[in-house]
Amino acid sequence: MLLFTPGPTPVPQNVRNAMSDETMHHRTPEFEAIFEKTRKHLFNLFKSDEVVMLSSSGTGAMEAAVTNLCHNTLLNVNSGKFGERFGKIAVANGLKSVEIKNEWDTAVSVSEVVEAIKNNSEIDAIAVQISESAGGLRHPVEEIAKAVKEINPNIIIIADGITAVGVEKIDISNIDCLIAGSQKALMLPPGLSILGLGKKALEKIGSGKGYYFNLATEIKSQRKNTTAWTAATTLIIGLLEIFETIERDGGLEKLYKDTALRAEAVQAALEAIGLHVYPKTPAKSMTTIDDKDASAIRKMLKNEFGVNVAGGQDHLEGKIFRINQMGLIPIYEIAWVVNSIEMALSKLGRRTYDGSASRILNQILFENK
Ligand SMILES: *Cc1c(COP(=O)(O)O)cnc(C)c1O
Repeated sequence: MLLFTPGPTPVPQNVRNAMSDETMHHRTPEFEAIFEKTRKHLFNLFKSDEVVMLSSSGTGAMEAAVTNLCHNTLLNVNSGKFGERFGKIAVANGLKSVEIKNEWDTAVSVSEVVEAIKNNSEIDAIAVQISESAGGLRHPVEEIAKAVKEINPNIIIIADGITAVGVEKIDISNIDCLIAGSQKALMLPPGLSILGLGKKALEKIGSGKGYYFNLATEIKSQRKNTTAWTAATTLIIGLLEIFETIERDGGLEKLYKDTALRAEAVQAALEAIGLHVYPKTPAKSMTTIDDKDASAIRKMLKNEFGVNVAGGQDHLEGKIFRINQMGLIPIYEIAWVVNSIEMALSKLGRRTYDGSASRILNQILFENK
């Protein structure tokens, strides 16, 4: 079965092998050496002043960011499940929350955010997804961050990059905190989350908040290449192997280029066979199609063609399907995915199969090689 969900993503064989050794003790020079190398790679990926790894799924890093970086009122952008989650985290931690809500195909605008902060001087942090995975939507986070900082540089910008870090180069000039998770573009099993932090964020963290997710405690340890609590050793060993794999494949720039081109080619291939891309501003992390037969197409892909794509949640259940674009994806796999979708449409009596989807995909990839 080809796993083509936008998280979890497949773990490369060599990375699975690297993680299959005996469990390493975390308080040893051997593990600290691995930690140090991994940290260096993370600095190169995030381009931030500090990086912190946490043993948690992505939501843990979202909570750590909110509790350590918001001390009064959080403005969260809700164009989907993950944006909504930021507001719930704020409330659960006794913080005040203001939300900008849009349909899941619609990105927040810079002016909506500017208006919200002008209307409420208690907002001291903004949380927004770079790529909102609920509908495969790209928010204009860099522009929002710039506009907010021009009005009030003390407002902290928390950017959830869980389906953006490792997908595209992110300009963090005005972003204080950037979040990543292991099971998306980093091609690892779930359980490790990472925060990239800027100087302003480090100042605001001060002595930190909470216990397990106290970022000050973690930063202090991680600067010494160790962790405050037991490290997710196996996942960190896997992460180092991921970075080395990306390097062997040509580096981050090539990964970003390949991902962008693949996303463009898949979109063109599926549009050519009459399908419609759901978000008005698609992210490069996934291709989201809205279709009356979304459920039937998904089932057919899984049962007849060996392809597992994700569906929709809440009000989009049965209305969309989402195809992963994150990570190192062989062309023969994605070519089979678009071809399978075309065959499914044919079986549903929607169009006569003529191989258009894979032809267009291959043509775009070939012309840009
Ligand atoms: C997957 C994801 C998360 C984190 O979810 P976990 O299940 O806690 O790993 C957060 N934000 C976005 C945009 C995601 O895609």
